Amino acid sequence: MSNSYDVVVVGAGTGGYVAAIRAAQLGKSVAVVEKQKALGGTCLIWGCIPTKALLEHAHALKVIQHASEWGVTLPSGSPAIDMTQVQARKDKIVTTLTKGIEFLFKKNKITWIKGTARLAGPGTVDVVDGDRQTLQAKEIILATGSSPRSVPNVQIDHARIITSDEAIHLKQVPASLVILGSGAVGVEFASIYQRFGSEVTVIELVNRLVPVEDEAVSAELEKSFKKQGITVLTGTKVTRASATATGVEVDAETPDGSTRKISADLLLVATGRGPVTTGLGVEDAGIALERGYINVDELYRTSVTGVSAIGDVITLGTGPHPQLAHVSSMEGVIVAERIAGKPVQPINYDHVPGCTYCDPEIGSVGLTEAQARQRGYDVAIGTFPFGVLGRARMAGETEGFVKIVADKKYDELLGVHLIGPRSTELVAEAVLALRLECTAEELIKTIHAHPTFSEAVGEAAHAVHGAAIHV
Ligand SMILES: Cc1cc2nc3c(=O)[nH]c(=O)nc-3n(C[C@H](O)[C@H](O)[C@H](O)COP(=O)(O)OP(=O)(O)OC[C@H]3O[C@@H](n4cnc5c(N)ncnc54)[C@H](O)[C@@H]3O)c2cc1C
Repeated sequence: MSNSYDVVVVGAGTGGYVAAIRAAQLGKSVAVVEKQKALGGTCLIWGCIPTKALLEHAHALKVIQHASEWGVTLPSGSPAIDMTQVQARKDKIVTTLTKGIEFLFKKNKITWIKGTARLAGPGTVDVVDGDRQTLQAKEIILATGSSPRSVPNVQIDHARIITSDEAIHLKQVPASLVILGSGAVGVEFASIYQRFGSEVTVIELVNRLVPVEDEAVSAELEKSFKKQGITVLTGTKVTRASATATGVEVDAETPDGSTRKISADLLLVATGRGPVTTGLGVEDAGIALERGYINVDELYRTSVTGVSAIGDVITLGTGPHPQLAHVSSMEGVIVAERIAGKPVQPINYDHVPGCTYCDPEIGSVGLTEAQARQRGYDVAIGTFPFGVLGRARMAGETEGFVKIVADKKYDELLGVHLIGPRSTELVAEAVLALRLECTAEELIKTIHAHPTFSEAVGEAAHAVHGAAIHV
């Protein structure tokens, strides 16, 4: 069998596997080198899918815990979580989806080469373990993703001081869990294990939770977390963490300069992820890097002709690149279409939705109020609380709001920020609205079905004009 392909993709995460499928759809012969035993990368194996599966379990437990409110009588005793069943169900979901990608590869005649890839000269990739061989490629796409990273003075031992890779596999609910970092990963695990019964403390260096979100969203999440019994320590720096025979000891410097000592069963380090390029041969190939990330232009070309890169491993050199599955997939589609000679446009990264599936959920797109003001807009704000809606009352999910940031001069939507029930679904309307450069007026004139959660989006648009109907 020939080892020459039109396109060789390194890494079968949401960037690589989507790029491979799109290139194959466009008539290219494609091979994908993936070193894991399954396809799908971080998202399917350790990220989006397993965490959201655990969050669905947490939500089911929440409903059952409120059974009496719903008029459901349970046998005596309080409902408890069975981690063996939780993990079995989660693993089954992951396996079904990773096998689904194998099916799609077969359907699109994509060759999966099991092993670790290394660049070996122009148009050449060596598979250095597993199915060892040398591949020739007209085009190479690097999609090697990211892995968890820690902060100074905190040594991950994968037993007591863990990352998300271990947190998704816990066989028992820890009695106490300290989470370092309050980005999406940190607050999602806070919601999971608090609901499962852990005593959870979230420590964040910045003075608010989910620091990339609008400040009003951060404040609402902190209010809700505290109500749920999660300890929130913002503006707090972990200066030391050490594993003991029975748990972990954490020293944290609080905003007043004092040191707080916290003991817990586990410390989850959720302080971000760094690029995976070790052993890939990018330096020898002369590929330009920035802070370890592969530097690409707006259509994902690296500094070496014939080598592109997408997903968590890249930087566009214009500030932080969002490490999100849907971003890597869209980049995969664009790079495949460019290689196939189709006309393509760069992504507008201001229009990337961010979804955080903590309780309450967060969905956002576009500029926060602070960012819009920084960019010099004369800003109009419209906010509408979910709690007023009939649908929210029926569901018993009344926390949160929709906040729209608009430009006063042209009425154009600049950002939409949701926290509350179904926010990760509702944000889709806002993404389309921003892409189509909608005004608040156009959103007002868009009919939102009743009774739905989406009415809050329409009402927030009314609120931009100071005329919400139901408040
Ligand atoms: C806990 C957690 C939850 C998340 N939840 C979400 C979410 O809800 N929504 C969302 O959008 N994003 C989420 N993410 C982020 C998302 O998973 C990543 O942005 C996405 O997986 C990036 O895709 P990628 O293709 O760039 O890289 P990856 O998915 O990391 O895939 C890279 C692949 O390359 C392989 N590889 C690396 N080097 C080599 C080599 N030399 N040879 C062969 N193979 C190699 C790796 O084995 C891996 O399979 C989450 C991440 C985590 C950790």
